[in-house]
Amino acid sequence: MDRFREKVNYDGPLPERYPEAGPCHLWTASTASRPHPGGQVYGQFHADGTTVAPHSWLWRQERGPLPPGHVLDHWACDRGICVNLSHMRPATQRENILRSESIGAVNRAKTHCPQRHAYSSENTSVDATGARHCRTCARDRNRRYYATRGKELRRGKRASVE
Ligand SMILES: [Zn+2]
Ligand SMILES: [Zn+2]
Repeated sequence: MDRFREKVNYDGPLPERYPEAGPCHLWTASTASRPHPGGQVYGQFHADGTTVAPHSWLWRQERGPLPPGHVLDHWACDRGICVNLSHMRPATQRENILRSESIGAVNRAKTHCPQRHAYSSENTSVDATGARHCRTCARDRNRRYYATRGKELRRGKRASVE
């Protein structure tokens, strides 16, 4: 158990879907080289002569075996390397995969950003995770940032002249 704890960062980010559950406990040692069918990458922990996913190992230690045919679903945070047991629940493999697919599908089905700008091809940038971002909003954010910064600079100059 000590060997397990020293590989965990207990100061992870708060889960978006359920911040009340507290921060993610992130596995900092080695991870699987390939993502799980649900798209998440899990950690690797060597125990009892085999390699197991650290979150499954911890669940077994603290809560006992999973019901047959079930896997742990990180429903709160979607971070496969998180070992905070309150961020996961047993689900069938199929439910687990369906849920991650539905998150992608919901995001793909959105036609507008939260500020009601259309996700047109000119207005959309896609990052490495496949998430879409609104270019108009990004431009507005930049403009606001430089506007306040410019004001501060001007104010600073005036103060030094006086
Ligand atoms: Zn988590
Ligand atoms: Zn926008």
